[in-house]
Amino acid sequence: MSSFNVAKFGGTSVANFEAMSRCAAIIENSPNTKLVVSSACSGVTNLLVELANGVQDQTRRNEVLNQLADIHQAVLNNLEDATQAASEVSAILDTVTRLAEAASIQSSHKLTDHLVACGELMSTHLLTQLMKDRGINAVRFDIRDVLRTDSNFGKAEPELDTIRQLSQQNLVPLCQDFVVVTQGFIGSDAEGNTTTLGRGGSDYSAALIAESVEASGLEIWTDVPGIYTTDPRIAPKASPISEISFSEASEMANFGAKILHPSTLVPALRHDIPVFVGSSKEPEKGGTWIRHQVESSPLFRALALRCNQTMVTLRSAKMFHAYGFLAKVFEVLAKHKVSVDLITTSEISVSLTLDQTDTSGGAPQLPEAARLELEELCTVEVEHNLCLVALIGNNMSESKGYAKQVFGTLEDFNLRMICYGASPHNLCFLVHESVSKQAIQKLHTELFEG
Ligand code: ASP
Ligand code: MG
Repeated sequence: MSSFNVAKFGGTSVANFEAMSRCAAIIENSPNTKLVVSSACSGVTNLLVELANGVQDQTRRNEVLNQLADIHQAVLNNLEDATQAASEVSAILDTVTRLAEAASIQSSHKLTDHLVACGELMSTHLLTQLMKDRGINAVRFDIRDVLRTDSNFGKAEPELDTIRQLSQQNLVPLCQDFVVVTQGFIGSDAEGNTTTLGRGGSDYSAALIAESVEASGLEIWTDVPGIYTTDPRIAPKASPISEISFSEASEMANFGAKILHPSTLVPALRHDIPVFVGSSKEPEKGGTWIRHQVESSPLFRALALRCNQTMVTLRSAKMFHAYGFLAKVFEVLAKHKVSVDLITTSEISVSLTLDQTDTSGGAPQLPEAARLELEELCTVEVEHNLCLVALIGNNMSESKGYAKQVFGTLEDFNLRMICYGASPHNLCFLVHESVSKQAIQKLHTELFEG
């Protein structure tokens, strides 16, 4: 195992010169950090995505290009020695201009990745120079030289063996002498085309890189001081969690706690690398450590909320005492590449929620062709505007009595599709969107504020 840490800074952490300076101070205060993974400056990826989608209106295109130039220029203006970073950023902005024009004629996934990657390519030039100005022995590294992926542009899959090999060869030795600054979110395929891991993918990048260099720890610096018992914007009395297990944290990420990209913990868990989550704005507040072994494993740990749920209910009298019905249902779903998230069954019906497979953030849809085929087997009902509430904790399937407390608290709510007992780490159910926050508030008061 390497003796150094990998630190990742999110978009808000590197939003401008002041924010980047706070990151540099964090790095100065932890001499153990040798590898820094940065997102694009806040807002930049959104602007690049807009350009990549094709902006035909030249005035709007120039407006976006000017905004991009301004964000980066504002940092350059504050650097002591801006010459090199300025010329690098200006060259990248030229590429952005050229690609934006191409995208306005015809966009493609490949072109999109090339374009949106420019955000991280620019921010890392700025952060590196800012660190150098402060006397840190920093060097910028193009992560595309090690982060090999397949060619699935927009949501590329990492090729772990190659990444490990290239990291050990090219990245680890560099970390002996320098604090290396590199990009999150981006990679390259075997042909050298730029790829991306999907929106919000910098956390995942950082974890993959930490795994490949066998880091001793992974720090994720963001704009919240760690993981809370629930989103404090929903329940103001939510409290910070100082230590949480990988299993609990994975459940939270999967169930929509928007603190970490859901894939982030997979590489960390594989290599047993402890993960820290904290706020670069208030590092003194501490944060949350996610580890394999934790000191306490309370029955109730946290509440997560995931909205935009689509529930499909399939009913058939034939399901009663029949075999093969569920197999047929899943055959149809598999054929149409519909990925199922949660499922509950009764004697004559089965309810399921659909997985969020694209990155648009909208509610997942049941494809019409799948619906028609299912209708040959049973009645099909599709409901939207539902939210999933997940109670996360430990040994829940073995403890008696708590379900009564949970459901008693929510007796006035119309709960749908309750999943209980399948996982020792969660109990979850659907409620209508209009009452979802209220459900979280009531449960938080009852289970966490006592
Ligand atoms: N810059 C990318 C995004 O905004 C990746 C990241 O920040 O994690 O999606
Ligand atoms: Mg992010």
